[in-house]
Amino acid sequence: MAKHKNLSIFIPHLGCPNQCSFCDQRSISGAQTAPSASEVAKICDEFLPKENGADYEIAFFGGSFTAIDRGYMMQLLETAHGFVCQGRAAGIRISTRPDCIDEEILGILKQYGVTSIELGAQSMQDDVLKLNLRGHTEEDVNRASKLIKKYGFSLGLQMMTGLYGQKDYMRYAVDTAGKFVALQPDTVRIYPTVTLKNTMLENVFLSGEYTPPTLDETVDICAQLMEIFDEAGIKIIKMGLHADTGLEDKIVAGPYHPAFRELCLARQKLLKIKQQLTNTDKKSITIKVNPKQLSQWKGQKNTNIQQLAQLGYAAQIVADSSVEADEFTID
Ligand code: SF4
Repeated sequence: MAKHKNLSIFIPHLGCPNQCSFCDQRSISGAQTAPSASEVAKICDEFLPKENGADYEIAFFGGSFTAIDRGYMMQLLETAHGFVCQGRAAGIRISTRPDCIDEEILGILKQYGVTSIELGAQSMQDDVLKLNLRGHTEEDVNRASKLIKKYGFSLGLQMMTGLYGQKDYMRYAVDTAGKFVALQPDTVRIYPTVTLKNTMLENVFLSGEYTPPTLDETVDICAQLMEIFDEAGIKIIKMGLHADTGLEDKIVAGPYHPAFRELCLARQKLLKIKQQLTNTDKKSITIKVNPKQLSQWKGQKNTNIQQLAQLGYAAQIVADSSVEADEFTID
């Protein structure tokens, strides 16, 4: 099956009724100004295939799409829809806030060929949402998600880990993931909270009110989330912030790593090995894995082998093409 591709167009910080504690949208998107409809047309014309664009979605990301000026939103939709009608893209993907979804807006989005809607839910705990100035509730996420599915859109949910106000980072993340699973989204994105300059989070970090989880704790949390979503058959389409130009200069604190997903995949593999080791008394072990995943099973710089050594296991991890991806054997 051909790989799905998004042609991403950033709509920076438009339409947001508030300023979330962690958000400096211009830093995250790397874009300063909102594109005009003609600029969108130019981008689409340049980057979409001339025909057979069935693998592509035109993706408006970065702001709260359904809360931007209605006239501007319609111009963007009309422009993108033109390319869908020409067969140069299969549909349109948007991201928005849960409190900016209702039946009227969903009717409009349907009419203009929108196929996927992603909601920035971030947390499913009202106290955390309030502390982080999100301006919506868990119930808004539930209501909007059900409505999006009722209208036949693909539903994406975005969550953050390590948010200000979460008293136990792992427990809160697992709780949010469980509530996401109950809503049966098609996709999820997981973003570890990173403290950026000129945000409320920077103030609470500097005052000592907020201590973000370490990178290692965050990798543990996200490896656990991967297990939850994998088991539920929900696709994780993004883990960690995209390393846009200039982002690293704006980070004050937090578990940022340019290869974050790789770290989590390796940790997930380590968790699986550790679970299996409870069934063996051997201390010298050979773990056979699919060759394509050898580096994941070993971990970056052999960290998984070192971790196993700390637990008292002399482990060798070797490639064996008879082993399926994500499977492993221990001898
Ligand atoms: S709703 Fe999204 S874009 Fe708007 S301030 Fe919050 S995080 Fe930023």
